[in-house]
Amino acid sequence: MSLLTVTSVVPLTPRMTRMTFTGPGLAEIGTWPDQQLKLLFPQPGGSAHVSDAPDVGTWYQAYLAMPDDERPWMRSFTVRELADEVLTIDFVLHGANGPASRWASSAQVGDVIGRFGPSPDYARPLGEAELLVFAGDETALPAIASLLELLPAAQQRLVFVEVADPAEEQDVPGVRWVHRSAGEDLVSVVTAQDVPADVWVWLGGEASAVRALRRHFVGRGVSKKDIEFSGYWRRTLTQDDAPTADDLAEAQERIAALSE
Ligand SMILES: Cc1cc2nc3c(=O)[nH]c(=O)nc-3n(C[C@H](O)[C@H](O)[C@H](O)COP(=O)(O)OP(=O)(O)OC[C@H]3O[C@@H](n4cnc5c(N)ncnc54)[C@H](O)[C@@H]3O)c2cc1C
Repeated sequence: MSLLTVTSVVPLTPRMTRMTFTGPGLAEIGTWPDQQLKLLFPQPGGSAHVSDAPDVGTWYQAYLAMPDDERPWMRSFTVRELADEVLTIDFVLHGANGPASRWASSAQVGDVIGRFGPSPDYARPLGEAELLVFAGDETALPAIASLLELLPAAQQRLVFVEVADPAEEQDVPGVRWVHRSAGEDLVSVVTAQDVPADVWVWLGGEASAVRALRRHFVGRGVSKKDIEFSGYWRRTLTQDDAPTADDLAEAQERIAALSE
C-alpha cells in the first residue's frame, strides 16, 4: 500500500474530473491493458495510511483490523494513464452519497489518498477478433478510452458509452454516445445492434446493465470466453456492502470463463 499526492485537478465535463498523482512506487508498475487499482479515501480528519507492520499479517488484514471510524474507504478505479511516474485517474462525480465521489468533488492539489495496485495478477489480454465491441457507462469510460488507444487503426470496433447528456461526451473517437437525457439506455441501444457471433466483447459499468448485456451476447452465440465483463457499481448499494446473489453468480461466471 502506498500514498498518492494530488498534483492537478482538471474538470473534464460537468460530471467527470481528471486528477494526476505522484507517489512512491509508480515507476515500478508495468504496463498492461485495463489497469485497475484500489484507492483509499480518508475519513474526515483521518488518514489514508494503513500500517502494514509485519505483526498484523498482510496489508489487507491490517486494513480490516482498523477501527471502523479510522479505516479509510476503499474503492476501485482505473488507470487512465501512467507515464513518467505520473498517474492519471478520471473520477465520475455521481453525488455526495459516496466517499470517493464526495472526495473527488472537492479534492485539491496536495491532498493525499492511498493506493493498492494495480497488480499484474489481474491483467487480462485484449481479445482478438475481426470486430471488438466495447460497452459501458461513464465509470467504464476511462477503461474503454485507454483500451481504444491500444488498438491498431485498422481494428474494427463498435463502442457504446452511456452518459447523462451530451455535455458528458469526451474526445474519444468512434464512440456511439448513449444519452440518458434523451431517454436512451445502454442495454436498449446495444441489444438493438446486429452483431455477429465471432466478436470479442468488453463490458463494464452498472452491474445489472452489464449482466443484461452479457446475457444478450451469450444468447447471440458469442462464446463466454470472448466476453470480458465486470459490474463496476450497484444501484443503491455501496462498494462496502456485501455481494448480492447476482454478484456471487457473476464472480462464479468470471472464474468459469477463465478456465474455458
Ligand atoms: C474495476 C473497476 C474500475 C472502475 N474504474 C472507475 C474509474 O476509473 N472512474 C470512476 O469514476 N469509477 C470507476 N469505477 C466505479 C467506482 O468504483 C464506483 O462508482 C464506486 O461505487 C464509487 O464509489 P463511491 O464511494 O463514490 O460510492 P459508493 O459508496 O460505492 O456508493 C454510494 C452510492 O452511490 C451510488 N453510485 C456509485 N457509483 C455510481 C455512479 N457511477 N453513478 C450513480 N450512482 C453511483 C451507489 O449505488 C450507492 O447508492 C470502477 C469500478 C471497478 C470495479
